[in-house]
Amino acid sequence: MNRSPDRALRTFDLALTLTWLILLAPFWLVRALLALIGAGRLFDHAHVLGRNRRPFVRLTFAGPLPGRELAALFNILRGDMAIAGPRPLTVAEAAAVPAEANIRFSVPPGLFSPYQVQQRTGIAHDPESELDRRFVENRSVRASWGLSARALVAGLLGGGERPVPPLLDFFGVPIVNTTMDEAVDWIAARASNHPGAARHPSLSKEGNTSDLALGAGEKALLAFVNPDCLNIAYTHDRYRAVLRQAARVLPDGIGVKIGCRMRGVGLAANVNGTDLFPRLCERAARDGFSLFLLGARPGIAELVAENMQARYPGLMIAGIQHGYFGPDEEDAIIARINASGAGVLLVAFGVPRQELWLADHHDALTPPVRMGVGGLFDFYSGRIPRAPLWLREIGLEWVWRLIQEPGRMWRRYILGNPLFLYRVWKQARQEAKAHE
Ligand code: UDP
Repeated sequence: MNRSPDRALRTFDLALTLTWLILLAPFWLVRALLALIGAGRLFDHAHVLGRNRRPFVRLTFAGPLPGRELAALFNILRGDMAIAGPRPLTVAEAAAVPAEANIRFSVPPGLFSPYQVQQRTGIAHDPESELDRRFVENRSVRASWGLSARALVAGLLGGGERPVPPLLDFFGVPIVNTTMDEAVDWIAARASNHPGAARHPSLSKEGNTSDLALGAGEKALLAFVNPDCLNIAYTHDRYRAVLRQAARVLPDGIGVKIGCRMRGVGLAANVNGTDLFPRLCERAARDGFSLFLLGARPGIAELVAENMQARYPGLMIAGIQHGYFGPDEEDAIIARINASGAGVLLVAFGVPRQELWLADHHDALTPPVRMGVGGLFDFYSGRIPRAPLWLREIGLEWVWRLIQEPGRMWRRYILGNPLFLYRVWKQARQEAKAHE
């Protein structure tokens, strides 16, 4: 079927489009009427390129009201577009597509694209051309069906243009609103000790004079926060203080995205440690800085080192130490970390222990970048399988973790998620009142 899926896909597209047109008839008829009344015309026309770069006119219902995209169903009926496929591009956008990504033009553009789905949940960390290439290579009715289902679910989470402030504030914790690429660049610049590496504009945190917030070439503490961490920070004064003083706090997970949405702002990306780690390894292998893996059960970090070195030849693991040591061993471990010359120290003790430990030993430790990474080593050792991509694309990685370790996770997610949203709502209300 994969060899010539065109006919099956066209049948699938027509069947689904006709079903939607019938089921959604009241909506699109009203939307069409509103377009005529409001804008004096039915459609807006965008000139874009389709399969084999053939130009066509993409339809949207006229006017600014929601439901504009419903008109694209007529493009699908006409055969210009498919339900799922790479995004239709303008001539100027198409000119910027790298030659190796030309395969994207071998299929009709889609109403739903793989990149847009990942963007909705903030996990579009790979280039769009790469996601398009993977989609085209595995194109099938099943893949199209899956992508449209995920697009509909992810659509509920994302959508709508919102301002993207450089810094977010949840319960007094400043979170850098950045992209995965920028975050990796930032770490690499410090880990390789490049003096004068560019600072992200968001880092001008007024009033922060702490020595934990240091510039390029110096010691930087980095933390990732998900709703569970922010719930802990809400009541744990010391942890909150450490996060406030850290060089960077990065947003982890769909909960932060939903929290942003509740506050009327956009999240640039879900810059979680689990997605960042392989990119950091790739960069470390390329730039020549090394990593020290501290934490998790004995034997786990060794497996992580093995797996990542197999994936990224040249990756230097400067040292390994499990996370079940006594206070009497601490000095020797710190001496070993410092002697290793690691550019980045990754500490996996769980939240908030790892951040507090890093703050306690901030001066004694010498690696320029240190970060708390929670259960990361368990994932990359293969001890705990990570949620499949399709679940992550619809923002449900946490359900996977809940199913895997219900005894430990139910409190975090079943109680913690609603509590987090309630606290965000309360903060948003207080801010709105203060502005009145
Ligand atoms: N851990 C450790 N030493 C300890 C307690 C925990 O190294 O004394 C490790 C544990 O083995 C696991 C990680 O810390 O690998 C915590 O994982 P968890 O999934 O709880 O992280 P979080 O969800 O807090 O990010």
